[in-house]
Amino acid sequence: MLAFGGDLAFLDAVVFTSICEGARNLSRILARDFPDLHVTYLQLPDGQASSEAVDHWEAELRRLGKDISEKFGVAVEDSALRASLGLYNLWRRRVRELYAQRTQWPHRISAEELCCLIRAGTRMPPEAHIPLLDEVLREIPFRGRRRRGRLPVVVEGAVCEQPPLGLLDALEKAGCCVVNDDLLLGWRWFFDDVPETDNPWRSLAESYLERSVPSSLRHPIPHFFTDALVDKVHRSGAEAVIFLPGKFCGPDFFDHDAFRTALERARIASLEVRVDEKMNLDQIRKAVKIFVSNLSG
Ligand code: SF4
Repeated sequence: MLAFGGDLAFLDAVVFTSICEGARNLSRILARDFPDLHVTYLQLPDGQASSEAVDHWEAELRRLGKDISEKFGVAVEDSALRASLGLYNLWRRRVRELYAQRTQWPHRISAEELCCLIRAGTRMPPEAHIPLLDEVLREIPFRGRRRRGRLPVVVEGAVCEQPPLGLLDALEKAGCCVVNDDLLLGWRWFFDDVPETDNPWRSLAESYLERSVPSSLRHPIPHFFTDALVDKVHRSGAEAVIFLPGKFCGPDFFDHDAFRTALERARIASLEVRVDEKMNLDQIRKAVKIFVSNLSG
């Protein structure tokens, strides 16, 4: 829809991954209907981290670099990639700090504000976004908002389709306070810096496999990501999980049972709100209010 509405006209290329059948089909539709847009594809590694998986992923990343070089006549030099990793490490450190502050003081930055702030970073060069993040990091501790008695929750399950901002606002107005989430996870994929080594391609490949947050998108064995969610709830001081999957997301549908079983075993309450274009925010707010009052009562 974005492409047909002209909202992607500023892009020269789009990279798809093997995340699901829907994404694969979409790549073919874009290539067919937008011949001026360069559409390319990356085969993500799956399974456990191993030297073979790192080899495969490094080769894929190098192939993408070569493809971009040939298509646009720009050399993708190792030194430029290393410098970019360094810059994004600085960016990611600030985002990690921001999330830590939000978990500590969820009343001082709303889910909607935080999401807008990170989304802005997806449309700006990191060197422009970093000073903005610094400003917010300095401001949050001095925000005077009162901590109200709301239910601390983790928001999870927005695989690639991001929930509308109005929905995040509705959750908080219905009595939740979001203390952690998996929104824009691709931008927060690494839990540590990507080492700036002589072979930045390999560093990136290793980081994807070895320094990435547990996610069903990468880990085929459910307990890796279900245990991680339980741990995330405990570490964030949350009392419940709100799942916000896309209504027609197949991968999420398959994960949901595994998540629910793990949460039930850990005695953590959860509520699922399926996201689609026609959802009624008033109805959702009422359902969330009931969920919150049942847990508080
Ligand atoms: S939201 Fe789900 S169905 Fe859509 S592209 Fe992502 S994984 Fe595929």
